[in-house]
Amino acid sequence: MKLSDMADKRSRRLLKSVARSAATELEQLRSIPGTPKELDFFYDVLEAAFVRNAPTPMLGARSEKKLFVGVYCMVIPEELIYAAGAIPVRLCAGCFESSQIGEDRVPRDGCPLVKSSMGLSMQKGLKAFDLCDVVIIPTTCDAKRKLGEELSAFKEVWMIETPHIKDADSSRRIWMEQMYALKAKLEALKHNGNHGKRVNARRMAAAIQSTARAQAEMRRLLAHRATQTPMVWGRQATAVVNAYAFCHVTRWTEALARLNDRLTAMTDDDQPVHHDDRPRIYIAGSPSIFPNLKIPTLVEEMGGIVVADESCAGDRYLYDPVGSTEKNLNDQMLGVASRYLAPCVCPSFTPNDDRVTLIQRMITDFAVDGVLYHVLKGCVVYDFEVSRVENALRDNQIPLLRVETDYNPEDVEQLRTRIEAFIEMLKSKRSRAKKAASNG
Ligand code: SF4
Ligand code: SF4
Repeated sequence: MKLSDMADKRSRRLLKSVARSAATELEQLRSIPGTPKELDFFYDVLEAAFVRNAPTPMLGARSEKKLFVGVYCMVIPEELIYAAGAIPVRLCAGCFESSQIGEDRVPRDGCPLVKSSMGLSMQKGLKAFDLCDVVIIPTTCDAKRKLGEELSAFKEVWMIETPHIKDADSSRRIWMEQMYALKAKLEALKHNGNHGKRVNARRMAAAIQSTARAQAEMRRLLAHRATQTPMVWGRQATAVVNAYAFCHVTRWTEALARLNDRLTAMTDDDQPVHHDDRPRIYIAGSPSIFPNLKIPTLVEEMGGIVVADESCAGDRYLYDPVGSTEKNLNDQMLGVASRYLAPCVCPSFTPNDDRVTLIQRMITDFAVDGVLYHVLKGCVVYDFEVSRVENALRDNQIPLLRVETDYNPEDVEQLRTRIEAFIEMLKSKRSRAKKAASNG
């Protein structure tokens, strides 16, 4: 058999097993009792991307003459991509099977997100990845920086130099230079007869508005989850945001508006997802990305409820709005660029005290009982910050459980035992507090 035939066979095998894992995860999500039908849209997006491997109706078929731009991390301004007439596709991956294949080019001790992204990009055949005419990778952490070099063997890669000290004047200058360079490249992008469009103030205003609408709906979803008796499970909400990666912003926003309306109706009818006294959990640390939802799933299977997370592929993805609503393109560029740098609390930045402040605010706003700190093996930057977060939470008397894992399902039972013990401890803490309150 020729080498190319062997590679094709391996790709087909890999994509089949990715499809199987994704289908199993979706089956579990769909079988949660009381799932509102408005969640189907998001599950369908993920199914189209990973199971059916058909360019999702949301992205449009390749023949529709659109440009697709793959992005990694949450610091690449999607407004700029939309304003240049292209569609961003977030490619940070959560597939166990491709993380194994990714080890051909990423060290074994590298983080599974990067291994998985590498593994999927090395294959021909997963359309959501193949669609992209170019991929943009920021130099956020070491893993992403080196991913860019490796990926360039398979795709055109544009690296974006991301400053690590946010509030230095030189960082702001470098970032703005990067943004203008990106704008020029997007405008000049050509593929299969499609051309990037000139970014002007009108197109930019429309793109800013579309993203702002998505963020407004995202905040409505968060408000639902902040209530005492949420109408949606944390793992369902994670899937909703994960679907954003493979969906046009307008379609996703419309679907989330429908879901939010439904959740409001469920609130009015007093139909929460649970009636018991579940500890409210905040997941901090490395992102959970479909189909690897094992951490939020275990928390909820073991008697907790995930009310919020700080994941860059979850609640933090669409949290910070663009400050500027200016009509002038330069001011819009400044507003958009700032939105992706100044409030971002990825652990790749230093100093990163804002992150602790954000977590403490979320703990209060979401009445959190405990924090599960998720470290993806090899993600040094998140692991570095765990003790700082733990110390800050001690002042708030909020317990923290650090769990280190990767995409391999083999450690599920071991994690289950630790997470169950953590939830039981939170339950006892709650009932002691209740007793103390009732005793005066
Ligand atoms: S947390 Fe890490 S993976 Fe996520 S956006 Fe930030 S740098 Fe990228
Ligand atoms: S921040 Fe962590 S999870 Fe994200 S790419 Fe870097 S090492 Fe991986």
